[in-house]
Amino acid sequence: MVTASSASIASTALTASTASAASTESTPSTVSAAFTDAGRARQIASTVPDPELPMLTLADLGVLRDVEVGADGTVVATLTPTYSGCPAMAEMRAAVAARLSDAGYARVEIRTLLDPPWTTDWISPEGRRKLAEHGIAPPGPAPRPAPGPVPLVLSPTRREVACPLCGSADTEETSRFGATSCKALWRCRACREPFEYVKEI
Ligand SMILES: [Zn+2]
Repeated sequence: MVTASSASIASTALTASTASAASTESTPSTVSAAFTDAGRARQIASTVPDPELPMLTLADLGVLRDVEVGADGTVVATLTPTYSGCPAMAEMRAAVAARLSDAGYARVEIRTLLDPPWTTDWISPEGRRKLAEHGIAPPGPAPRPAPGPVPLVLSPTRREVACPLCGSADTEETSRFGATSCKALWRCRACREPFEYVKEI
């Protein structure tokens, strides 16, 4: 009790001294309008690249779900991880927090939203264009699970993946997993080039 009350006095004193010195310090005592603008914060958070698909931003991927700024200037960014247990998630969280604090936001909170789960359908048209530009076949529409029990499918779904380099549909999967688990390796029979393909989920 004694400790708590003396701590609270110390903190009050500190706040008072900060406020009185506000006119000569670069840190304003009140949060400036620029830092309560959610649009600005969102724009900054939107520029963070995905660690696994660095040609895409977290906004292109649809991983960045929401950015809000509280009255006290706290930025709350909500992310939905691409794949459950995706090791890149910790990196994404840290990157968004770092980008926002570099931009001057003193209080940044990163929230993780798991429901609804991320789907490749959330990749923006701009994101799909960037993937193809980098020789990666963008995902097709994600399969919509029917309500009720999930059927166990033992044979892989047959997919038509167009070659991102020459456009030919004469392609084949060479490996279910590429450099990262979200991509498969494919090969084009027409131009003989291997390419990666972002699997739809
Ligand atoms: Zn090709």
